[in-house]
Amino acid sequence: MFVLLGVVLLVNGQAEAWSYKEHVQLTRIAVARLLASPDTDPDLKKFLSSTTPTLSLADERQFMIEAHVGIEPQREDLLGLLWWVLVPDLEAGRRDGPAVEPFGVHERLLHYIDLELLNAPGKPLEYHDDLSGLPDRSLIPRDLSDDRLKRAGFLPFAVEHSSRQLIRSIREHRIEPDLAVPGDEHALRWAGYLIHYVQDNTQPHHATIDYKSVSYFGHRPDAPNVHSEVEWRGVDDPTQPLPDLRARLFDQTQAWLALADTFPRVSEDAFEATLDVAYASYRYLPMIGRAAQKSLIEEGGKPAIDTRKFFEHRENVDGMPMDLLTLKARQQAWAILRTEAVLRAAWAAAKAGD
Ligand SMILES: [Zn+2]
Repeated sequence: MFVLLGVVLLVNGQAEAWSYKEHVQLTRIAVARLLASPDTDPDLKKFLSSTTPTLSLADERQFMIEAHVGIEPQREDLLGLLWWVLVPDLEAGRRDGPAVEPFGVHERLLHYIDLELLNAPGKPLEYHDDLSGLPDRSLIPRDLSDDRLKRAGFLPFAVEHSSRQLIRSIREHRIEPDLAVPGDEHALRWAGYLIHYVQDNTQPHHATIDYKSVSYFGHRPDAPNVHSEVEWRGVDDPTQPLPDLRARLFDQTQAWLALADTFPRVSEDAFEATLDVAYASYRYLPMIGRAAQKSLIEEGGKPAIDTRKFFEHRENVDGMPMDLLTLKARQQAWAILRTEAVLRAAWAAAKAGD
């Protein structure tokens, strides 16, 4: 069975986030790390071990190199939590999807925050390579009634909301779907949504109006889709297997996980933490844009990106020379660490009763 729960993928879901393949793997690795950690809450461990099959690190590496997940995820491979982590993108891909409460907008709007659109009146509402389009942090509204959010997106609100719903579900002992109870109000669902959103948060394109880096190609309508280059082309495109690149991405991600202390500290507040990650990730957009410019090729008469060349582009990042693949690995390691942190925080808050 390819399509479940009446959810039909109508448009290219890959444009919405890290690829399905990556969301699945980032989640599974985070779960395995939480299960292996002696200071993970026993109830969280129980939840994870009963809802999420994990793989050994060696099998995860093979999965990254060989597996193809595509845009029609199959339930037999995606039990429990792994399925729910993908549902937000399946919903985002429904052309006539319902308005999601309490936001009153399509699910699609919940996966990003285009920071430039929240700039002060008179300031440019666009991305600039010198980052001058980035508004001062104090200008970001924490107010759902601000109309600009209907264009800019609701990601920090979505993280906060799914986190609250998760905490509530844990407290009320609604852990897994109960067929006797209508609706999908349970910890499995809300943990999946929360994980999805915090993982999208580390993709720099999810913080900008220029989410395909088209400004680096003079905004030409046929500019290559740099967004999908950052996400799935290198890891899940069956027309270009790139096994060595995938192996290196996996190994680099593991290397970054060992350097967890080097990542920026983020707020304990779910909304503020999401902005912390968005602002920190935004700084990498110029490198992504320049990498795309340098790897421009023609494919079937249309501009395209040489994926290998794209990821080999090198610059100084935070004083360290690194290529774009290493930077992507860093952002994926951050997604894993954030996944662990928000799950830990939810179970702790549920117990604290605050
Ligand atoms: Zn998404």
